[in-house]
Amino acid sequence: MPELVSEKIVRARKAHQCRTCNQMAVMPGQEYTRSTYVFDGRIYDWVMCADCRACASFVFSWCSYDGDGIGEDQYDEWAYDTGWEADSDPATQSDEQKAAISYLVRSRKMVAGHAWVGVAGHPDDLECTHREDGTDATYCGGDERDHLWSTR
Ligand SMILES: [Zn+2]
Ligand SMILES: [Zn+2]
Repeated sequence: MPELVSEKIVRARKAHQCRTCNQMAVMPGQEYTRSTYVFDGRIYDWVMCADCRACASFVFSWCSYDGDGIGEDQYDEWAYDTGWEADSDPATQSDEQKAAISYLVRSRKMVAGHAWVGVAGHPDDLECTHREDGTDATYCGGDERDHLWSTR
């Protein structure tokens, strides 16, 4: 298993991608946590954005950490498992569910801001007709699979 050698807060000189959610997580000049691991005789660095960092303890306890290491796959499984059980009303979501949903939005470009709304009279059409402000400028058009919630 990977062994953590050091973990430090550093200031970025160039932009870095988060190794967990694959978003451009760190911009030049920002502080971030750089973890250095040794695995199989190789040294590698793990860069994580602040939001993924905040998920780490949830993911660890969800996986009942057994020493295999926690990577992108575990984050994904945890986020789908936890996020899918959440209610669409943020007021009823636990901190863990909120963290999972924000991970899915970051990493998988999931739509969490509204429920998927089908085309009236066309139940087989998977296009979302939600308009955030009621005009075509904010027409969603997204796939039902990309939405965390659906009205049907
Ligand atoms: Zn991230
Ligand atoms: Zn939509």
